[in-house]
Amino acid sequence: MIIIVVIGGGVVGGLSAINLKDKGFQVTILDQSEIGQESSSAAAGILFPLLPWDYDDSIYQLCMNSDRSYESLSKRLIDETGCDPEFKKSGMLLKQKNDRQLMSEWSTRNNFNIEERKLDNNPYFYFPEVCQISPSKLMKALKKLMVNLKIEIIENCKLTPIKSENKKIFEWPSNNNQLISADFYVIATGAWTGLIHQKFLDHIYPVRGQMIQFKKNDIELPHIFYGDNSYVLQRKDGVILAGSTRENVGFSKAINREAISMLQKKAQNLVPKLKDIELEKHWTGFRPGTNENLPFIMKDNFYENLFINSGHYRYGITMAPESANRITELIMQEGA
Ligand SMILES: Cc1cc2nc3c(=O)[nH]c(=O)nc-3n(C[C@H](O)[C@H](O)[C@H](O)COP(=O)(O)OP(=O)(O)OC[C@H]3O[C@@H](n4cnc5c(N)ncnc54)[C@H](O)[C@@H]3O)c2cc1C
Repeated sequence: MIIIVVIGGGVVGGLSAINLKDKGFQVTILDQSEIGQESSSAAAGILFPLLPWDYDDSIYQLCMNSDRSYESLSKRLIDETGCDPEFKKSGMLLKQKNDRQLMSEWSTRNNFNIEERKLDNNPYFYFPEVCQISPSKLMKALKKLMVNLKIEIIENCKLTPIKSENKKIFEWPSNNNQLISADFYVIATGAWTGLIHQKFLDHIYPVRGQMIQFKKNDIELPHIFYGDNSYVLQRKDGVILAGSTRENVGFSKAINREAISMLQKKAQNLVPKLKDIELEKHWTGFRPGTNENLPFIMKDNFYENLFINSGHYRYGITMAPESANRITELIMQEGA
Protein backbone atom coordinates (compact mmCIF):
# COMPACT_ATOMS: atom_id res chain seq x y z
CA MET A 1 0.00 0.00 0.00
CA ILE A 2 1.19 3.52 -0.79
CA ILE A 3 2.36 5.40 2.31
CA ILE A 4 1.86 9.16 2.57
CA VAL A 5 3.34 11.27 5.35
CA VAL A 6 1.69 14.64 6.06
CA ILE A 7 4.04 17.00 7.90
CA GLY A 8 2.09 19.48 10.08
CA GLY A 9 -1.05 18.79 12.08
CA GLY A 10 -3.04 21.99 11.55
CA VAL A 11 -6.37 22.18 9.73
CA VAL A 12 -4.64 21.97 6.33
CA GLY A 13 -2.58 18.89 7.21
CA GLY A 14 -5.48 17.32 9.12
CA LEU A 15 -8.04 17.63 6.32
CA SER A 16 -5.43 16.53 3.74
CA ALA A 17 -4.64 13.43 5.81
CA ILE A 18 -8.35 12.52 6.18
CA ASN A 19 -8.99 13.04 2.45
CA LEU A 20 -6.02 10.88 1.51
CA LYS A 21 -7.08 8.16 3.96
CA ASP A 22 -10.63 8.24 2.53
CA LYS A 23 -9.06 7.56 -0.90
CA GLY A 24 -7.41 4.41 0.45
CA PHE A 25 -3.84 5.51 1.18
CA GLN A 26 -1.91 4.57 4.30
CA VAL A 27 -1.44 7.92 6.04
CA THR A 28 0.77 9.22 8.84
CA ILE A 29 0.48 12.78 10.17
CA LEU A 30 3.16 14.25 12.36
CA ASP A 31 3.66 17.46 14.25
CA GLN A 32 6.52 19.16 16.05
CA SER A 33 4.17 19.72 18.99
CA GLU A 34 0.60 18.37 19.26
CA ILE A 35 -2.07 18.18 16.56
CA GLY A 36 -3.95 21.47 16.11
CA GLN A 37 -2.14 23.63 18.65
CA GLU A 38 -1.01 26.45 16.37
CA SER A 39 -2.74 28.87 13.98
CA SER A 40 -5.63 26.50 13.35
CA SER A 41 -6.79 26.61 16.98
CA ALA A 42 -6.13 30.34 17.36
CA ALA A 43 -8.43 31.36 14.50
CA ALA A 44 -11.81 33.05 14.70
CA GLY A 45 -13.40 30.50 12.38
CA ILE A 46 -15.27 32.80 10.00
CA LEU A 47 -15.79 30.73 6.83
CA PHE A 48 -15.59 33.62 4.40
CA PRO A 49 -12.75 35.75 2.95
CA LEU A 50 -13.92 38.93 4.72
CA LEU A 51 -13.68 41.38 1.78
CA PRO A 52 -13.42 39.04 -1.26
CA TRP A 53 -13.89 41.80 -3.85
CA ASP A 54 -10.47 43.17 -2.79
CA TYR A 55 -8.75 39.93 -3.87
CA ASP A 56 -8.10 37.99 -7.00
CA ASP A 57 -11.01 35.63 -7.86
CA SER A 58 -8.72 32.62 -7.33
CA ILE A 59 -8.93 33.30 -3.55
CA TYR A 60 -12.71 33.03 -3.56
CA GLN A 61 -12.55 29.88 -5.69
CA LEU A 62 -10.68 28.19 -2.83
CA CYS A 63 -13.24 29.44 -0.29
CA MET A 64 -16.58 29.26 -2.05
CA ASN A 65 -17.80 25.76 -1.13
CA SER A 66 -16.31 25.82 2.32
CA ASP A 67 -19.64 26.28 4.13
CA ARG A 68 -21.14 23.21 2.45
CA SER A 69 -18.00 21.14 3.11
CA TYR A 70 -17.95 22.10 6.79
CA GLU A 71 -21.66 21.49 7.19
CA SER A 72 -21.27 17.89 6.05
CA LEU A 73 -17.93 17.44 7.83
CA SER A 74 -19.54 18.66 11.06
CA LYS A 75 -22.27 16.01 10.74
CA ARG A 76 -19.61 13.37 10.16
CA LEU A 77 -17.59 14.58 13.17
CA ILE A 78 -20.63 14.54 15.46
CA ASP A 79 -21.67 11.04 14.23
CA GLU A 80 -18.21 9.47 14.24
CA THR A 81 -16.49 11.23 17.18
CA GLY A 82 -19.27 12.72 19.33
CA CYS A 83 -17.53 16.13 19.14
CA ASP A 84 -19.46 19.15 17.82
CA PRO A 85 -17.24 21.75 16.08
CA GLU A 86 -20.10 24.27 16.40
CA PHE A 87 -20.72 24.97 12.73
CA LYS A 88 -23.42 27.62 12.30
CA LYS A 89 -24.80 29.89 9.62
CA SER A 90 -24.51 33.21 11.41
CA GLY A 91 -24.58 35.88 8.70
CA MET A 92 -22.26 38.90 8.78
CA LEU A 93 -22.98 42.62 8.99
CA LEU A 94 -20.39 44.84 7.34
CA LYS A 95 -20.18 48.12 9.27
CA GLN A 96 -17.71 50.00 7.14
CA LYS A 97 -17.65 51.94 3.89
CA ASN A 98 -16.83 49.88 0.84
CA ASP A 99 -16.63 50.32 -2.88
CA ARG A 100 -20.30 49.68 -3.66
CA GLN A 101 -19.67 49.11 -7.37
CA LEU A 102 -16.86 46.59 -6.72
CA MET A 103 -19.02 44.72 -4.18
CA SER A 104 -22.02 44.62 -6.44
CA GLU A 105 -19.98 43.35 -9.41
CA TRP A 106 -18.42 40.68 -7.19
CA SER A 107 -21.78 39.52 -5.79
CA THR A 108 -23.32 39.28 -9.28
CA ARG A 109 -20.29 37.44 -10.66
CA ASN A 110 -20.35 34.93 -7.80
CA ASN A 111 -24.09 34.75 -7.30
CA PHE A 112 -23.59 35.67 -3.63
CA ASN A 113 -26.45 37.36 -1.82
CA ILE A 114 -25.68 40.79 -0.27
CA GLU A 115 -28.52 42.77 1.34
CA GLU A 116 -28.51 46.47 2.05
CA ARG A 117 -29.76 47.36 5.56
CA LYS A 118 -30.32 50.58 7.48
CA LEU A 119 -29.20 50.87 11.12
CA ASP A 120 -29.57 54.21 12.93
CA ASN A 121 -30.09 55.76 9.51
CA ASN A 122 -26.74 54.48 8.20
CA PRO A 123 -26.58 52.09 5.26
CA TYR A 124 -24.85 48.75 5.97
CA PHE A 125 -24.35 45.55 4.03
CA TYR A 126 -25.52 42.17 5.29
CA PHE A 127 -24.24 38.78 4.08
CA PRO A 128 -26.83 36.20 5.18
CA GLU A 129 -24.89 33.17 3.89
CA VAL A 130 -21.73 33.63 5.98
CA CYS A 131 -21.00 30.68 8.31
CA GLN A 132 -18.61 30.04 11.17
CA ILE A 133 -17.07 27.17 13.12
CA SER A 134 -15.12 26.85 16.38
CA PRO A 135 -11.55 26.09 15.22
CA SER A 136 -10.28 24.69 18.53
CA LYS A 137 -13.27 22.31 18.75
CA LEU A 138 -12.84 21.45 15.07
CA MET A 139 -9.19 20.50 15.65
CA LYS A 140 -10.07 18.29 18.66
CA ALA A 141 -12.76 16.54 16.61
CA LEU A 142 -10.43 16.09 13.61
CA LYS A 143 -7.83 14.45 15.84
CA LYS A 144 -10.44 12.00 17.16
CA LEU A 145 -11.60 11.23 13.61
CA MET A 146 -8.00 10.58 12.55
CA VAL A 147 -7.58 8.12 15.43
CA ASN A 148 -10.86 6.37 14.44
CA LEU A 149 -9.72 6.17 10.81
CA LYS A 150 -6.42 4.60 11.90
CA ILE A 151 -4.32 7.45 10.57
CA GLU A 152 -1.01 7.15 12.40
CA ILE A 153 -0.39 10.26 14.54
CA ILE A 154 3.15 11.10 15.64
CA GLU A 155 3.39 14.12 17.96
CA ASN A 156 6.43 16.01 19.29
CA CYS A 157 8.37 15.03 16.19
CA LYS A 158 9.96 17.89 14.27
CA LEU A 159 11.23 17.09 10.80
CA THR A 160 14.53 18.73 9.95
CA PRO A 161 15.09 21.06 6.93
CA ILE A 162 15.37 19.13 3.65
CA LYS A 163 18.94 18.53 2.60
CA SER A 164 18.65 15.56 0.22
CA GLU A 165 20.34 16.01 -3.14
CA ASN A 166 18.42 13.08 -4.63
CA LYS A 167 15.31 13.94 -6.57
CA LYS A 168 13.39 11.36 -4.56
CA ILE A 169 13.16 11.49 -0.76
CA PHE A 170 13.26 8.01 0.83
CA GLU A 171 13.71 8.92 4.48
CA TRP A 172 13.23 12.22 6.29
CA PRO A 173 15.13 12.71 9.57
CA SER A 174 13.50 14.20 12.64
CA ASN A 175 15.26 16.12 15.40
CA ASN A 176 14.81 13.15 17.74
CA ASN A 177 16.75 10.90 15.36
CA GLN A 178 13.78 9.12 13.83
CA LEU A 179 13.86 8.43 10.09
CA ILE A 180 10.41 8.89 8.56
CA SER A 181 9.92 6.79 5.39
CA ALA A 182 7.15 7.30 2.83
CA ASP A 183 6.27 7.07 -0.84
CA PHE A 184 4.98 10.66 -0.83
CA TYR A 185 5.36 13.58 1.58
CA VAL A 186 3.05 16.57 1.98
CA ILE A 187 4.42 19.69 3.66
CA ALA A 188 1.56 21.38 5.57
CA THR A 189 3.68 23.25 8.06
CA GLY A 190 1.92 26.64 7.81
CA ALA A 191 4.01 29.61 8.95
CA TRP A 192 7.06 27.31 9.50
CA THR A 193 7.25 26.13 5.87
CA GLY A 194 10.32 28.23 5.00
CA LEU A 195 12.16 26.63 7.93
CA ILE A 196 11.69 23.08 6.63
CA HIS A 197 11.94 23.91 2.90
CA GLN A 198 14.18 26.91 2.44
CA LYS A 199 12.84 27.69 -1.02
CA PHE A 200 9.72 29.10 0.70
CA LEU A 201 11.55 31.30 3.20
CA ASP A 202 10.83 34.50 1.24
CA HIS A 203 7.30 33.44 0.24
CA ILE A 204 5.64 32.19 3.44
CA TYR A 205 6.21 34.07 6.69
CA PRO A 206 4.55 34.31 10.12
CA VAL A 207 1.97 37.07 10.58
CA ARG A 208 0.96 37.21 14.24
CA GLY A 209 -2.73 37.55 15.02
CA GLN A 210 -4.11 38.36 18.47
CA MET A 211 -7.65 37.61 19.64
CA ILE A 212 -9.61 38.51 22.78
CA GLN A 213 -12.47 36.73 24.55
CA PHE A 214 -15.03 38.49 26.78
CA LYS A 215 -16.22 37.19 30.16
CA LYS A 216 -19.49 35.27 30.13
CA ASN A 217 -22.46 37.63 29.71
CA ASP A 218 -26.08 37.75 28.56
CA ILE A 219 -25.51 39.51 25.25
CA GLU A 220 -26.87 37.68 22.20
CA LEU A 221 -25.35 38.64 18.89
CA PRO A 222 -27.65 38.15 15.89
CA HIS A 223 -24.68 37.75 13.50
CA ILE A 224 -20.97 38.44 13.03
CA PHE A 225 -20.07 42.16 13.02
CA TYR A 226 -17.21 43.34 10.82
CA GLY A 227 -15.86 46.90 10.58
CA ASP A 228 -12.62 48.91 10.86
CA ASN A 229 -10.68 45.73 9.98
CA SER A 230 -12.01 43.97 13.09
CA TYR A 231 -14.76 41.54 13.92
CA VAL A 232 -16.89 40.38 16.83
CA LEU A 233 -18.55 36.97 16.83
CA GLN A 234 -20.38 34.63 19.13
CA ARG A 235 -19.92 30.88 19.39
CA LYS A 236 -22.82 28.45 19.73
CA ASP A 237 -22.12 28.22 23.48
CA GLY A 238 -22.52 32.03 23.90
CA VAL A 239 -18.82 32.95 24.15
CA ILE A 240 -18.00 36.30 22.46
CA LEU A 241 -14.66 36.84 20.73
CA ALA A 242 -13.07 39.70 18.84
CA GLY A 243 -10.04 39.98 16.60
CA SER A 244 -7.60 40.38 15.25
CA THR A 245 -4.23 42.02 14.70
CA ARG A 246 -1.84 41.50 11.79
CA GLU A 247 1.77 41.91 12.96
CA ASN A 248 5.08 41.12 11.30
CA VAL A 249 7.06 40.23 14.43
CA GLY A 250 8.43 36.81 13.46
CA PHE A 251 7.52 33.98 15.86
CA SER A 252 7.32 36.21 18.98
CA LYS A 253 4.41 35.37 21.29
CA ALA A 254 5.13 38.33 23.61
CA ILE A 255 1.95 39.87 25.03
CA ASN A 256 1.14 43.30 23.66
CA ARG A 257 -1.23 45.25 25.96
CA GLU A 258 -1.77 48.04 23.38
CA ALA A 259 -3.06 45.54 20.85
CA ILE A 260 -5.42 44.04 23.42
CA SER A 261 -6.95 47.41 24.33
CA MET A 262 -7.16 48.38 20.64
CA LEU A 263 -9.08 45.16 19.91
CA GLN A 264 -11.35 45.80 22.90
CA LYS A 265 -12.10 49.36 21.76
CA LYS A 266 -12.85 48.27 18.19
CA ALA A 267 -15.14 45.51 19.47
CA GLN A 268 -17.01 48.02 21.64
CA ASN A 269 -17.48 50.30 18.63
CA LEU A 270 -18.99 47.40 16.70
CA VAL A 271 -21.12 46.19 19.63
CA PRO A 272 -21.56 49.05 22.15
CA LYS A 273 -23.05 46.69 24.81
CA LEU A 274 -19.56 45.17 25.20
CA LYS A 275 -18.45 48.40 26.97
CA ASP A 276 -19.55 46.89 30.32
CA ILE A 277 -17.96 43.48 29.81
CA GLU A 278 -14.46 42.60 31.02
CA LEU A 279 -12.02 40.40 29.14
CA GLU A 280 -11.67 36.73 30.01
CA LYS A 281 -8.59 35.84 27.99
CA HIS A 282 -6.36 36.65 25.07
CA TRP A 283 -4.23 34.56 22.69
CA THR A 284 -2.04 34.71 19.61
CA GLY A 285 -1.41 32.60 16.53
CA PHE A 286 0.91 32.71 13.54
CA ARG A 287 -0.83 32.90 10.20
CA PRO A 288 1.17 31.50 7.29
CA GLY A 289 1.44 34.84 5.46
CA THR A 290 1.85 35.15 1.70
CA ASN A 291 1.99 38.31 -0.39
CA GLU A 292 -1.16 37.66 -2.37
CA ASN A 293 -3.10 35.72 0.31
CA LEU A 294 -2.79 32.72 -2.03
CA PRO A 295 -1.46 29.39 -0.74
CA PHE A 296 1.03 27.09 -2.48
CA ILE A 297 -0.80 23.88 -3.41
CA MET A 298 1.64 22.13 -5.69
CA LYS A 299 4.06 19.37 -6.48
CA ASP A 300 7.60 20.44 -5.62
CA ASN A 301 9.56 21.34 -8.73
CA PHE A 302 12.71 19.48 -7.65
CA TYR A 303 11.71 16.58 -5.36
CA GLU A 304 9.45 14.25 -7.31
CA ASN A 305 7.61 12.73 -4.33
CA LEU A 306 7.11 15.97 -2.38
CA PHE A 307 3.97 18.13 -2.32
CA ILE A 308 3.33 21.50 -0.67
CA ASN A 309 0.04 22.60 0.91
CA SER A 310 1.02 25.75 2.82
CA GLY A 311 0.61 29.53 3.02
CA HIS A 312 -3.13 29.91 3.56
CA TYR A 313 -2.61 33.20 5.42
CA ARG A 314 -5.87 34.79 6.66
CA TYR A 315 -8.32 32.21 5.35
CA GLY A 316 -6.79 28.80 6.00
CA ILE A 317 -9.77 27.42 7.91
CA THR A 318 -12.05 28.45 5.05
CA MET A 319 -9.72 27.18 2.33
CA ALA A 320 -8.68 23.89 3.97
CA PRO A 321 -11.40 21.58 2.51
CA GLU A 322 -10.82 22.65 -1.12
CA SER A 323 -7.09 22.77 -0.55
CA ALA A 324 -7.19 19.17 0.73
CA ASN A 325 -9.16 18.12 -2.38
CA ARG A 326 -6.64 19.76 -4.68
CA ILE A 327 -3.55 18.23 -3.05
CA THR A 328 -5.22 14.79 -3.11
CA GLU A 329 -5.94 15.18 -6.84
CA LEU A 330 -2.32 16.21 -7.52
CA ILE A 331 -0.98 13.15 -5.67
CA MET A 332 -3.43 10.86 -7.49
CA GLN A 333 -2.31 12.31 -10.83
CA GLU A 334 1.16 10.95 -10.03
CA GLY A 335 -0.29 7.51 -10.53
CA ALA A 336 -0.58 6.89 -6.82
C1 LIG B 1 -5.94 35.31 15.12
C2 LIG B 1 -6.24 34.54 13.87
C3 LIG B 1 -7.53 34.56 13.34
C4 LIG B 1 -7.83 33.82 12.19
N1 LIG B 1 -9.12 33.79 11.75
C5 LIG B 1 -9.44 33.04 10.66
C6 LIG B 1 -10.79 32.94 10.23
O1 LIG B 1 -11.71 33.51 10.85
N2 LIG B 1 -11.07 32.20 9.12
C7 LIG B 1 -10.09 31.54 8.43
O2 LIG B 1 -10.41 30.90 7.42
N3 LIG B 1 -8.80 31.60 8.83
C8 LIG B 1 -8.44 32.34 9.93
N4 LIG B 1 -7.14 32.42 10.34
C9 LIG B 1 -6.10 31.81 9.51
C10 LIG B 1 -5.97 30.32 9.77
O3 LIG B 1 -5.91 30.09 11.15
C11 LIG B 1 -4.71 29.77 9.09
O4 LIG B 1 -4.65 30.16 7.75
C12 LIG B 1 -4.71 28.23 9.16
O5 LIG B 1 -4.92 27.80 10.48
C13 LIG B 1 -3.41 27.67 8.64
O6 LIG B 1 -3.47 26.27 8.86
P1 LIG B 1 -2.18 25.38 8.74
O7 LIG B 1 -2.60 23.98 8.98
O8 LIG B 1 -1.48 25.69 7.45
O9 LIG B 1 -1.20 25.94 9.88
P2 LIG B 1 -1.07 25.57 11.44
O10 LIG B 1 -2.37 25.39 12.09
O11 LIG B 1 -0.15 26.59 12.02
O12 LIG B 1 -0.37 24.15 11.41
C14 LIG B 1 0.94 23.94 10.99
C15 LIG B 1 1.51 22.84 11.87
O13 LIG B 1 2.79 22.44 11.38
C16 LIG B 1 3.58 22.07 12.48
N5 LIG B 1 4.98 22.11 12.05
C17 LIG B 1 5.68 23.18 11.63
N6 LIG B 1 6.94 22.82 11.29
C18 LIG B 1 7.05 21.49 11.52
C19 LIG B 1 8.12 20.55 11.38
N7 LIG B 1 9.33 20.91 10.93
N8 LIG B 1 7.89 19.26 11.70
C20 LIG B 1 6.66 18.87 12.17
N9 LIG B 1 5.63 19.74 12.33
C21 LIG B 1 5.81 21.02 12.01
C22 LIG B 1 3.22 23.12 13.55
O14 LIG B 1 3.53 22.66 14.85
C23 LIG B 1 1.72 23.29 13.31
O15 LIG B 1 0.93 22.48 14.18
C24 LIG B 1 -6.82 33.11 11.51
C25 LIG B 1 -5.53 33.07 12.05
C26 LIG B 1 -5.24 33.76 13.23
C27 LIG B 1 -3.86 33.69 13.81
